Amino acid sequence: MTIKQAQQWVHEAWKKSPKQGISERDELLFLLEEIGEVARAIRILNGNKPGAKLEDELEKEFGDILLSLLTLANRYSIDLEKGFAKTKASVEARYVVGPK
Ligand SMILES: [Mg+2]
Repeated sequence: MTIKQAQQWVHEAWKKSPKQGISERDELLFLLEEIGEVARAIRILNGNKPGAKLEDELEKEFGDILLSLLTLANRYSIDLEKGFAKTKASVEARYVVGPK
């Protein structure tokens, strides 16, 4: 699935959901909340409790972040493929050393 396809899937999925009328501010807060959940999972994994269950949880929490990010981008009609392409080009120009 491409980023564009994921954004479209999220757009269609939320149209079928009872989750309607949520403000952009609250969508941002959901994203921050999901980031916090990843932080918690990483903190626990980096502690003395490593285990497959937590690694599965971390994977799920990253998925939650992606869903929130796609949702928020859709609210602002942001094309994340274009946005990421700009970021990728910026990183490559700054850090990736190619043949001269
Ligand atoms: Mg979560």
